[in-house]
Amino acid sequence: MVFRLMGTILRQPVSHLLKFAMCSMPCEVNPRFVLLYGSQKGQAQSIAEGLAEEAEEHGLVAELSCLEHKEKYNLEKENAPVVFIVSTTGDGEPPDNALQFVKCIKKKTLPTDHYKHLSYALLALGDTNYANFCNCGKIIERRLQELGAKQFYATGYADDGVGLEVVLDPWLDGLWKAIKSALSKMASDRTGYLNAEAVDSTKGTPDSSSPDVQLNLLSITDCQNCDSVGGSVETVSKSASAASAPATQTAVSDHRPDASAGSPGLASQSHGAASVTTSAPETQTKDAGVPCVILASSLKCSLPPLSESSLNVPALPPSYLDVSLQEVDTTEEQIIGPFNKETLHEVPIPRAVQLTRGDSVKTALFLELDISAYPMMTYQPGDSFDVFCPNRATEVEDMLHRLGLYDQRNHRVDIYLCKDTKKKGAQVPPYIPKNISLLYVLTWCLEIRSIPKKAFLRALVEHTGDNVQRRRLQELCSKQGTADYNLYVRDPSLSVLELLTAFPSCSPPLSLLIEHLPKLQPRPYSAASSCLMYPGKLHFVFNVVELPACSGRPAGRRGLCTGWLFDLINPVLLFPGKDESSGRMALPKIHVSLRPNCSFRPPSDLSVPFIMVGPGTGVAPFIGFLQQREKERLENPGATFGETWLFFGCRHRDHDFLFREELEGFVSSGTLSHLKVCFSRDDQLEEEGNDSAARCRYVQHNLRLSSQHVTDILLKQKGCLYVCGDAKNMAKDVNETLIEMIRTELQVDQLEAMKRLAGLREEKRYLQDIWG
Ligand code: FAD
Repeated sequence: MVFRLMGTILRQPVSHLLKFAMCSMPCEVNPRFVLLYGSQKGQAQSIAEGLAEEAEEHGLVAELSCLEHKEKYNLEKENAPVVFIVSTTGDGEPPDNALQFVKCIKKKTLPTDHYKHLSYALLALGDTNYANFCNCGKIIERRLQELGAKQFYATGYADDGVGLEVVLDPWLDGLWKAIKSALSKMASDRTGYLNAEAVDSTKGTPDSSSPDVQLNLLSITDCQNCDSVGGSVETVSKSASAASAPATQTAVSDHRPDASAGSPGLASQSHGAASVTTSAPETQTKDAGVPCVILASSLKCSLPPLSESSLNVPALPPSYLDVSLQEVDTTEEQIIGPFNKETLHEVPIPRAVQLTRGDSVKTALFLELDISAYPMMTYQPGDSFDVFCPNRATEVEDMLHRLGLYDQRNHRVDIYLCKDTKKKGAQVPPYIPKNISLLYVLTWCLEIRSIPKKAFLRALVEHTGDNVQRRRLQELCSKQGTADYNLYVRDPSLSVLELLTAFPSCSPPLSLLIEHLPKLQPRPYSAASSCLMYPGKLHFVFNVVELPACSGRPAGRRGLCTGWLFDLINPVLLFPGKDESSGRMALPKIHVSLRPNCSFRPPSDLSVPFIMVGPGTGVAPFIGFLQQREKERLENPGATFGETWLFFGCRHRDHDFLFREELEGFVSSGTLSHLKVCFSRDDQLEEEGNDSAARCRYVQHNLRLSSQHVTDILLKQKGCLYVCGDAKNMAKDVNETLIEMIRTELQVDQLEAMKRLAGLREEKRYLQDIWG
């Protein structure tokens, strides 16, 4: 029998080797596990990276890879535990970098014992506001099990809709024990196997055909830790409290003297600890010297019990970037637009119309783009496209001042990896091009509005001089401060700049911002037109997002992209009833790229009936559907066309009934068979298209009134139903109403009704395109 031990091949009796390796000496090689992630916006990736960093403190080696880097891992031969961390995107789709992996494991030709040797744990990230919660994680899990893999730790389903940490924190806490337990079990399984082999080998000559067995030996510390390892699977549920999670924290008091603002020297104290328990400062008022009574908590201060609690804060993320500014002129042109211009199209906006009346609560704008210069930009109804917007100039300027770098704004930013960084998988952000100015980086590359994650808050603590502010930042990133984090940071979408303004003694270096701020993402919008009806044009409609004032934000602000578009088109904006502009003004231009959606499409068979549910700006893709249908009817006068239904809703008939004339025109021409409209804030009893005097506020109420027709179309006529718009409430309410309708119409129980609806979803006859 041949063993590979710490890189050396030895020929020894098995029992002797195991005893020697596990107990007689401290081992140099820590046991390994494989850590794979699939991530769309970086959330799953950053959790995986955090785990990889923590692994060493648990005496483990994490082999971290993105699922798309197939050359870095080999599940077919893997004999170490495998941990998957995967998010879900769009309508339950895998993230782009997990697509190939999911495709591969879904292959029907794989035998049912394909992954018999595999031990896995899985963390799925999702958002219950969207359809198909954690769908990618569920698909991977189902296939792993179908292919014989064994779960060594219960799957965590973390819900961004209520806060990932509710499930994430206890899941992460329990993971280490589970990995060690799995390793220990795998080692003892192997020992059993090897012992049996060894007994055999004493009976005859060593079997040179036996496979090499690679041992990842437990270190002495792990031998000790493993004593307490119990069952291999622990249940993680939303209700699992952080307190019940296994304690892996190191207790370290945080009674350090006040440091000068921005002192980088603070960083060393807790670096590398799995997590740190800090105690409350003796009093919150001690530093200020003036006793004060806090009556209400806010972003900046807390109340008991939090203000008096010991805290469990995350481990300090290791820094990994060296950033310097060089006094070299960068080209002026770079400031003008996004970098990857080859893949983007710069298009003029010949028409911009405000669809809502001035006194409406929301402002909805209609924009027409002239895409005639790009014939390859053909789109289908149901497709969306990305708009690339810069950060607000005033906020970039504020950030430059806040970092003390305003005078260096035109300097070139040079970014390198720190040579001795402990961060696993560290890389220079690929979305920051070389040879560009600081002003460009802050304008086009980084989402400076992003909501600071807990790891970022933790890192900011190290650059905060004032003790009271340090303590508050620690609270906000701690387990105990989760409610405050949600209330003051997450829910109001507090930006990093707003946070830095509230904590004036916090002076992070530029490198920290580049490490923690995500890529500035383009914003997608649904096409509200058909190429057949408007060749060379692309229409879209959006609400200007208004974020209200809150603790840490003295005045409300607009959404980044919608606020930018609003300012851009304001000089050429037309209002309902106002004549077209004289056309003298230069047309504003924006950068866009197409995002085809292969499933949210009207049925290709024209005779199939379909139902559209799109309140507010959710009506956008259906305008495209109906324009296309109108053209098809003109071009195929003899064809049979299925019924079309549109359920639309808004606040007031006279203020925000978007596309009213066009929709009524579709009804007159017969393109739209049924238009059902409801007004949530009008007091009249009779709604548009409703015979019933019942009060219908929302689209789901109107759906219920047409229950028999709708279920007939879906269940008997093989029709389709499309839902578009607000993910937070509407899509959920519509989903529940559909279940209720199926239940009533078919006289089945809730579970059966849910199954029927899930079946429609699988057949791609119930489709959602939702956002918010
Ligand atoms: P941000 O600065 O990014 O957002 C600030 C905050 O506002 C965020 O925290 C977010 O939670 C919240 N927020 C985001 N969107 C909304 C909203 N609609 N109402 C209230 N709060 C919000 N939007 C449209 O108006 N029309 C469309 O046709 C459309 N199509 C989309 C298609 C797809 C596939 C997707 C994923 C999204 C679509 N959206 C659409 C949403 C759009 O991409 C933006 O998210 C939205 O316009 C806000 O962007 P912003 O940069 O102005 O706000």
